[in-house]
Amino acid sequence: MLLKYPKGHLIAASVATTIIGLVLLVAPSEKASAKRNSISIPVDLAVTSTQPDVKTASSEPLIAKLSGDIQEKAQIAPEVKENWKTITIKSGDNLTSLFKRAGLGARDVYEVSEATKANKSANLKRLYPGEKLSFLIDDGRLQKLRREKNQLESIEILRTESGYSVITNNREPEILHRFVSTTLDNSLFLAGEKAGLSQKVIMELANVFGGVIDFVYDPRQGDSFSLLFEEKYLDGNLIGSGNIIAAEFNNRGEVYRAFRYTDSENNSGYYSPEGESMQKAFLRSPVDFTRISSGFNLRRKHPIHKKIKAHRGIDYVAARGTPVYAAGNGRVIASGYNRANGNYVFIQHGAQYTTKYLHLHKRHVKRGQRVKQRQIIGRVGSTGYSTGPHLHYEFLVSGVHRNPRNIVKKLPKAKSIAKGEMPRFLESIQPLLAQLETHQRLLAYNQ
Ligand SMILES: [Zn+2]
Repeated sequence: MLLKYPKGHLIAASVATTIIGLVLLVAPSEKASAKRNSISIPVDLAVTSTQPDVKTASSEPLIAKLSGDIQEKAQIAPEVKENWKTITIKSGDNLTSLFKRAGLGARDVYEVSEATKANKSANLKRLYPGEKLSFLIDDGRLQKLRREKNQLESIEILRTESGYSVITNNREPEILHRFVSTTLDNSLFLAGEKAGLSQKVIMELANVFGGVIDFVYDPRQGDSFSLLFEEKYLDGNLIGSGNIIAAEFNNRGEVYRAFRYTDSENNSGYYSPEGESMQKAFLRSPVDFTRISSGFNLRRKHPIHKKIKAHRGIDYVAARGTPVYAAGNGRVIASGYNRANGNYVFIQHGAQYTTKYLHLHKRHVKRGQRVKQRQIIGRVGSTGYSTGPHLHYEFLVSGVHRNPRNIVKKLPKAKSIAKGEMPRFLESIQPLLAQLETHQRLLAYNQ
């Protein structure tokens, strides 16, 4: 089963990368597959994380390309037995103190500062504790200075006859696609964790569908989701995740699909297969659902749930301190305290809509302030008439209370892709749609 798709290549855009560095690059796929195989996936039919055979995907052209590079570079940079001194930056360090520790004087500090002043990426003014600087010193003078900014970015400052010059090494990670599909038997968060997704990817998934699904109240046992997302590899090691590129959420039989699309003006966003933006004017739930410890099974038992209609709002039971988000862009029209509401925040959205957030532990916004959707406006608490920590949330249309559970579906449609852009959009999502469907068919077949 070919389940990984090579997209990028490792591009060693460096001039002076060491041979050692390149040797490590040669066998990324073997290391990658070894690592992937060691990931243990629960033997649970509901959770399927496809284990790709990386070798079949891209190792051959990659190795060919890199060995070509090596031959070229081996002639340029035969760095053998160089005596490097590496210093880890501590808080409070500056260039002078670091150079002093390396055994260098003020003259080197001055010359290096001058040489790097104009080069933004090489500027040594901002140094971060924990970062490493490596010095190559010969005859008491600095010959080379190497700074590893992160795994992908490093700079080297070289002494030449006319002063110091700067070389920037940028490496591109190899991007592979991973498919994950799972069924919920508790919350989205737990299902995601069980399927081996990082918190970051789960949050992104929740953000993608945050305008159509209330991840606190909507999910039910048996719901499922599938997603295709990017993973970044460097030297065969997973260094992080990239973007979600396609996702599907099946909520009580209703299927939502979203595709990442970058339009011709280079704006990226998520869209339904029909080209409607997934970013809606209002979030379905204004709380950070990942902090709500009880999944839907437990939550259903909560007595307050039954009272939703009676008190014209919706309650989200969550731990004290859970972030509360602005449901949409707007302006804070009230931020205060009274006996009944406790700490409260009201937000006006356009001319018609108002959202209210009560019983907050803390308020993070002031009256008159503009807020963006998903901005944290306060924290869940139990101030005012409240029996325990929860967010009481109200949604008003032209001053009239509406049930936030139903009203969001009746709001104006979200922005769609421009007509002229539709053919390009449809063409770009076609392969993603095919990949999603292929994976799902294979999964169904295997079960
Ligand atoms: Zn309430």
